[in-house]
Amino acid sequence: MICDYETVIGLEVHAELMTSSKMFCGCSTAHRAAEPNTLVCPVCLGMPGSLPVINERAIEFTVRTALALNCAIAEFAKFDRKNYHYPDLPKGYQISQYDMPLSRDGWLEIEVNGTAKRVGVRRVHLEEDTAKLTHIDDYSLVDFNRSGVPLLEIVTEPDIRSVGAAREYATRLRQILRWIGVSTGDMEAGALRIEPNISVRPRGTEAFGTRTEIKNLNSIRVVAQSLEYEIQRQIDLLESGGAVVQQTLGWDEACSVTVPQRSKEFAEDYRYFPEPDLPPLILSSAWVHDVRESLPELPEERRRRYVDELGLSTYDAGVLTADRATGVYFEQAVEAYDGDLKKVANWVTGELFRLLNEMDTSIELSPVTPEALAGLLRIVDDGVVSASKAKDVFQAMVETGKSAQDVVEEQGLRQISDQDRLLSVVDAVIDENPQAVEDYLGGKGAAVGYLMGHAMRMTRGQANPGVVRELLGERLATLESSEQ
Ligand SMILES: [Zn+2]
Repeated sequence: MICDYETVIGLEVHAELMTSSKMFCGCSTAHRAAEPNTLVCPVCLGMPGSLPVINERAIEFTVRTALALNCAIAEFAKFDRKNYHYPDLPKGYQISQYDMPLSRDGWLEIEVNGTAKRVGVRRVHLEEDTAKLTHIDDYSLVDFNRSGVPLLEIVTEPDIRSVGAAREYATRLRQILRWIGVSTGDMEAGALRIEPNISVRPRGTEAFGTRTEIKNLNSIRVVAQSLEYEIQRQIDLLESGGAVVQQTLGWDEACSVTVPQRSKEFAEDYRYFPEPDLPPLILSSAWVHDVRESLPELPEERRRRYVDELGLSTYDAGVLTADRATGVYFEQAVEAYDGDLKKVANWVTGELFRLLNEMDTSIELSPVTPEALAGLLRIVDDGVVSASKAKDVFQAMVETGKSAQDVVEEQGLRQISDQDRLLSVVDAVIDENPQAVEDYLGGKGAAVGYLMGHAMRMTRGQANPGVVRELLGERLATLESSEQ
């Protein structure tokens, strides 16, 4: 019998912090750009007798993250040694945090099928990264540049119930880490790694099933893919009368399957004990308060403000708050424009995004500044350029970096609103299209559209359509009365 299963997922995320120096020494963290084993010193090489010194910035970044995730900050925290032997760990232990982490008990709000849901964050703690191993044929290379890079560990409660929710959590968490400036969140480069743990249980039961853990996933797509696979694998196993074995798995990208890595170590195996070379951390409430004050408006708050106060659609608000820079751009343009902010939203999410995408560049590097975009919107409002020509002007602004005003003057795109000039256009159109005029006088109102189109073509789209329509109407009315 196929029973209905519920999925239980927890996520453990490791994020490299964007400090300029390592966790316990002064070596640079720019390890990806450097030749192997050039950013090292006795501390991060684990030489006997060397002593670690705590990087204060890394503590601040951890607390920033913890506050953004609504965690309680510990007044007293400490570092511990996590003992194990592996070639990427020169000391034979990793300095981490065991029973007294910097923070606990937070949450992150996500949206699942249109409903807000909180995912509990069990803890946010700080540790050091290991060296990097590269396996080639039957030997391995080790690069200690990454050894000692500050690493944030963010662990959720097993609160996630679907693959979609896991994806949403990972996406929002990465957005926050970037937003508050603590991590690049660059998964492709390995600066953010995700390790989900998964179990299934018959729906309606309380007890958790046996869980497995998938190590080191480096894209959100792969997180979703591996979870789908692993959930089905566990269900199939249970349905066929088997049992799930608690184990650590890896994701085999080529075959799209999870594969066992090593049997799960239990916490006791690590023989944690307090790091004797480091003092405990005592965080004053005044310092924590200052860190809290320094936090920017977070994505969720901003999204809400855009919907509730600015009246934007949920969709637009979501797009405009996808990253911090977009919101900043939007707000600067709104301020410079001082008109209907929905127009600004449309331009940013429409034309601007389209062109930035085409140019494969980011909004920070946009050749059109928020003020320049506001300038374009203003001259459209003033009738200097028609709404239909505005996109061409914008395209030219992107290409040349010039202001809307300059583009309009240089390319002769100024809208023609001059009555006398347009009157001669209208007269020419009437002269050249006797059939359409006759149709109109015979009762076919639609013929006006044809005449309008002709007038717009004659002026290469520069005629002010409102003025043309008015003049054409007047002329046709005169002809109508003279016929009667
Ligand atoms: Zn070092």
